[in-house]
Amino acid sequence: MDRQLIRQLKQIVGERYVLSDPAEMYVYECDGLTLHRKPPSLVVLPETAQQISEIVQLAEGRSIAYLARGAGTGLSGGALAVQGGLILQMSRMNRILEIDLDNRCVTVEPCVVNLDVSKAVLPHGFYFAPDPSSQMASTIGGNIAENSGGPHTLKYGTTVNHVLGLDVVLSGGRIVQLGGKSSDRLGYDLVGLFVGSEGTFGIVTKAILRLSPIPQKVKTFLAAYSSVREASQTVSDIIGAGIVPAALEMLDRLTIQAVEDSVYAAGYPRDAEAVLLVELDGLEAGMERLAERIVALCRQNAATEIRIARSNEEREKLWAGRKKAFGAMGRLMPGLYVQDAVIPRSSLPELMPKINAIAAGHGIAVANVFHAGDGNLHPNLLYDGQDPEQIQRVLQAVEEIMKLCVDAGGSITGEHGVGFEKKDFMPMIFSPEDLDIMGRVKSVFNPTGLCNPQKIFPTSKSCGESGIPYKIQYKTLDGKTEEIFRI
Ligand SMILES: Cc1cc2nc3c(=O)[nH]c(=O)nc-3n(C[C@H](O)[C@H](O)[C@H](O)COP(=O)(O)OP(=O)(O)OC[C@H]3O[C@@H](n4cnc5c(N)ncnc54)[C@H](O)[C@@H]3O)c2cc1C
Repeated sequence: MDRQLIRQLKQIVGERYVLSDPAEMYVYECDGLTLHRKPPSLVVLPETAQQISEIVQLAEGRSIAYLARGAGTGLSGGALAVQGGLILQMSRMNRILEIDLDNRCVTVEPCVVNLDVSKAVLPHGFYFAPDPSSQMASTIGGNIAENSGGPHTLKYGTTVNHVLGLDVVLSGGRIVQLGGKSSDRLGYDLVGLFVGSEGTFGIVTKAILRLSPIPQKVKTFLAAYSSVREASQTVSDIIGAGIVPAALEMLDRLTIQAVEDSVYAAGYPRDAEAVLLVELDGLEAGMERLAERIVALCRQNAATEIRIARSNEEREKLWAGRKKAFGAMGRLMPGLYVQDAVIPRSSLPELMPKINAIAAGHGIAVANVFHAGDGNLHPNLLYDGQDPEQIQRVLQAVEEIMKLCVDAGGSITGEHGVGFEKKDFMPMIFSPEDLDIMGRVKSVFNPTGLCNPQKIFPTSKSCGESGIPYKIQYKTLDGKTEEIFRI
């Protein structure tokens, strides 16, 4: 262990805020994608942008990799310290700095929990629209890095549509402001570029977030089906009819069973093969007519039950079942590999059975719960992490599912990011030229490549095929030389 480095870090952040005991590192060895694990060399907890700037300078001066971490709920290995190095755990930067109602925005530090933003502004009639199902734990910094979505993305867009400005620390320790309270931006949209860069451009130290007014009326209902195909067809029909609900989510039979057996039981019909959760929001005028049209489309597709939430408690219960579904799946198997892929919405009826068949072909159970309205799928593969052979089958199934989605005109991720998990799938979508341009953009923000390396860009194996020279050498904290990728 490099004692001098530890001493220097403690001088920057204070004695208590550098963790170096190997036992403490295990907390940070993975994010929500528990399949890939690697403890960092050190964890440091900064409190200000200035401290982060100094840490970045120190790390880069020694060719040490570093990355920021929020709540560690990421599902693509984004906060995985692939080569060890430093994790900057952002927990001390968790203050809401300003609520500016006149400009309908709020300024926060990066480790404020998503739901806490809405809780703070709710008394004023506003909320923060991006609502990942992890919103009671995940942080604004993580949401920004991953450009997180959620059930209400269908109508309100992803995080990028709700971020006005950012303060960030870039390579070399530069502290830079991007955007601001006004949404009229001159020049390139650097905020838009930064959001979704998966922690590979720099470290967010402050964010100005757009607030949305609480809708006048919300109507939530559940429709149950005796086949996934009929539920999928309803989704296509609703969108095809020109209706854009606030949310349009689907849960399949295995997910329903897991939720109903858990403490999150939402009253979903246990005998259903699929359940749709549909939510309308906005002005009261006209909503009833819209709801009637949706109910008619559900009936046309043989819905076996349609139930409308009659109170806020009933609505919250329906949503709690959906939002806690991943947790409930812990009852089914010890390991859960949450998949994230996109397909054209219209392919749902055709592709859902094919995805299930791929998993079944590998002897793996799959539970589906997803943002059906966006075509953003989450096939969740259940496995036993103690069984290496089973893990191999899971990984094969994942690759086949990704190919299926890409061949159908979809994509390898809708909201969880590429991270470490899917970097080798990038050539399924992007040409070497595309990747080269992305790499050049990244180099502008992160020329040393030391900020969250080995994410997004393919490994040498897949890069070798495209001929892109990615490899560089770096020093680990214990003085060894290892190879990483240039970008
Ligand atoms: C049960 C569950 C449900 C989920 N549901 C959804 C969902 O509905 N929609 C969705 O999009 N995702 C969902 N996720 C995934 C995850 O919650 C999101 O990606 C979330 O935004 C991650 O936030 P975090 O604070 O946990 O970030 P972390 O996991 O700590 O980090 C994620 C990435 O952000 C980077 N990062 C963190 N803080 C900063 C910072 N200050 N500056 C720069 N980079 C930073 C990290 O380096 C890393 O690359 C879910 C996860 C779980 C476990």
